Formats: sequence, structure tokens, C-alpha cells
Amino acid sequence: MPDKSSLLSLAAAIDALAPQFTALSDQIWDFAELKFDEHRSSALLIGILEQNGFAVRKNVADMETAFIGEFGSGKPVIAFLGEFDALAGMSQVAGVDAPAPLSTDGTGHGCGHNLLGAGSLLAAISLAKHMHAEGLPGTVRYYGCPGEEGGSGKTFMVRAGAFDDVDAALTWHPAPFNGVRSTNNLAVLETYYRFKGVAAHAANSAHLGRSALDAVELMNVGVNFLREHMPQDCRVHYAITDAGGRAANVVQAKAEVLYLIRAPEMAQALALAERVGKVAQGAATMTETEVETIFDTASTNLLPNLTIENAIHDNMVALGPVPFDADDIAFARKIQATFTDEAVKSSIRLYQIKGDVFSDEKIDGSTALHLGLRAFEGQSHFRAGSTDVGDVSRVTPTAQCWAPAWAIGTNPHTWQVVAQGRSPAAHKAMLHAAKVLAATGLDLATSETLRIKARAEWADKMDGQSYVCPIPADVKPGQH
Ligand SMILES: [Zn+2]
Repeated sequence: MPDKSSLLSLAAAIDALAPQFTALSDQIWDFAELKFDEHRSSALLIGILEQNGFAVRKNVADMETAFIGEFGSGKPVIAFLGEFDALAGMSQVAGVDAPAPLSTDGTGHGCGHNLLGAGSLLAAISLAKHMHAEGLPGTVRYYGCPGEEGGSGKTFMVRAGAFDDVDAALTWHPAPFNGVRSTNNLAVLETYYRFKGVAAHAANSAHLGRSALDAVELMNVGVNFLREHMPQDCRVHYAITDAGGRAANVVQAKAEVLYLIRAPEMAQALALAERVGKVAQGAATMTETEVETIFDTASTNLLPNLTIENAIHDNMVALGPVPFDADDIAFARKIQATFTDEAVKSSIRLYQIKGDVFSDEKIDGSTALHLGLRAFEGQSHFRAGSTDVGDVSRVTPTAQCWAPAWAIGTNPHTWQVVAQGRSPAAHKAMLHAAKVLAATGLDLATSETLRIKARAEWADKMDGQSYVCPIPADVKPGQH
């Protein structure tokens, strides 16, 4: 933990920049740009980096919206990860407690990445200024990471070697809770199976047709039987991305299905993908169609780093609760009223909220906004999502925290996230996250002992294995 005066000065610097960075977050919320199309959002973030004396490298890893801002020089290199992509079909008016799309088919920040990108940038800039003022050696970097939502932007950046000289990486995510995020996420592989058949009149020459749509349906049936025989904690999801056409009186000559295959370890995901591939082949054989497998993207499972997580937790304790007011709680209560009791309880279970650092009050369905700090048990727990932060964590010690931007019960990728995305409570959570990350960045920059311990834990968990990028070398970002 930084000494008290450094912590106070970092926090004061961040509070002083609050108007600029809340406006930045709101602007990115307004843009709501989809993966790899975040041109206006990344231009805005790059502009602020340059105004603050950061040297910016653009088009990182052949992605137009990926960039790295760098301040200072030499070792250690402390990285902050920022995201800024939105989701399709998530258009929603801000600040209301009912679904209200701004436009039909519009986009929206359904995962709070507007806050994530702006908050991490605020941490990076504040730490860089502090280190410069104190004459501390080292480099602060902000990684502008596009396409987190199904694009694996960071995985491509890792594949391009962008993190090779980084000593530690930090990031955060908006959440319904305040606390350290120490989770073992799942590895994920995303693959399209594209079937090709023969079109025919569905009534008078159906015997000549070979239905690609039948093949997709049979593949899905086959995979649904496969579920019983998968390793525990694996997940398989699919979406029919092309059903062939809208005419029912035609035998569909083409059809496509996208599969997400998740497993605790990448090796398990790859093995499961092979079995899913056999089911696809089987469906093609049954229907006398052909199947083409198109690899889209992948992210490796997270490697949590308890050493840095403990440092984050200490800073969260020192910084105290997020200063929410009665209006923040009142709005959160309205949002919470849109969830079932079971959804609220499920959220409390999902984040494994068992105790609180600041309060003895038990968190239950009557709590709308997290006013405390999740007790950190010093160990990681399972969480069934995936993130491309996983690939970063495989090449450098990486740690994350949550900040309570949302009402308890809120799930990512919902209209409720978009509605809360530019609320005063969300802004406060973002500022809090920036303080936590900047303080932990300062710990890492100034304590060689901490860096060595974090690196040793990382090496121990990697267990002699070197990182293998799960995305084949010929696959380009967002090519599908
Ligand atoms: Zn997210």
C-alpha cells in the first residue's frame, strides 16, 4: 500500500479530474460502438493520452482501434487495460428504470465498458503524473483494447507480443459489488460451422435437395446429447447465424451455426471442440452436405494473481467505501425492483458475498447498492464467464477488481446496465476503481519485492508451461 500522503495525493488528483473523465465515459456511452468499430471512442481516448504527454502507438496487432499509450521510460512497466466496445441490440435510455430503446436495432454499453475504458485511463494518467512528480523510475502504459465482446482483442495483442516486457497488468470491471476479483474463468473457443447443401423445390423435387439447415439442426441435436459426456464446468452455446433463407418451400442450400465452447482449461476446450467437430461431420454425413469449420476467436482461462489481489484489497480497505448518497441508493432500488428476488439472490451467490470489511450488516435482497467491501478470502473462486484478460494473465502477472457501478442483482448484457451506465453512482464507482488501480500501480512500481513475489506466483501457476496463443497464426481480428 502506498504511504498515506501518496494515497491521498493520488485520490485528490483523480477527484480533480472527475469532471473530464465522467464526461469521457458518457461520451463513449453515447457512441456505443461495436467490436473493432470503436473509431470515435479510441480517437477520444488517444486524444486525452496525447494531451497528457503519453506517446501513442496505433494500429496495434493490425487492429485499427487498438492502441498503446506510454509515459516514462525503463523498468518496471506497469500496464492498465482499457475496454470501450458496446453490444448490439442494447440500445437503452439512461437513467430510467424500464426498458426504453433509444432506437430499434441500436447498440448500447451493456457491459459498462465506457466506464471501464475511462476509469483505467484515469488510473494510468494519474499514476504517470504522480511518478513523474516524484521522480520515480518506470513506464506506465495504457492498453486500448478493442473488441472484448466476442472479438478477443487482447488475445491478438498478446499474440503480437504487445505485453512481452510488461511487469504487471491491472484492470477492473463495473459490477454490482465492490471488491477484488479473484476468479478462475473459462477458456473459450468460438467457431462457425458452415454447411453447404443443394437447393431444390421443397415439394416437387425435395429428393434432389440436400438441406444445410437440416445439418445445422442435427448438429445441434448431436451436441445436446454430447453435453452429458462433457467434463464438469464446461459450457457449450450456439446461435444459428444463417438459417439459409426465409422461404419454407426451398430446401436450404446453406446454413451456419456459431458455437462457443468453454472449459476450465484451454486444453479441455480444444479437446471438446474436436468432439463438437465430429458431431458437425456426422451431421454433414447424415444429410450429404459439406461442412466448413471457420475459427473465429478464442480467449484463455484467467490465471488469478493473489499477490497483486492482496495489494488491491489493501488499497480498497484504505480508500474506504464508495461515497454513494441517498439519490444513488434510491435509483439503485428502482432498478433492483425490475429483478426477481431469485435474480438478486443469485447475484449475491455469484459474487460469493459472504462477509464485509466495513459493515456487519448482512447483504441480502434488501440491499440495493453495495456500500461496503467484499471480504477477500485470499483464494480464487470459480466463475463461468470468459474474458480476453485471460490471455494477458498468461504472459504477465495480472489482477482485477470490481467496483459497484450497478444495483445488486444486475447482470451484464442487460438493459439495466445500459440504463445505469451514466448515472452518478456509476461515475463514483469508476472514480473509485481509478483510485484503487492507481494506488496498486504505485505499489507495483515502487516495490521490487511485490513484483518479484507476483512474478514467482505467476511462474508457479504457469507450472513450466509457456503460453500458446489459442488463435491460429492465420486468423485475423474480426475477419468473420
Ligand atoms: Zn465486460
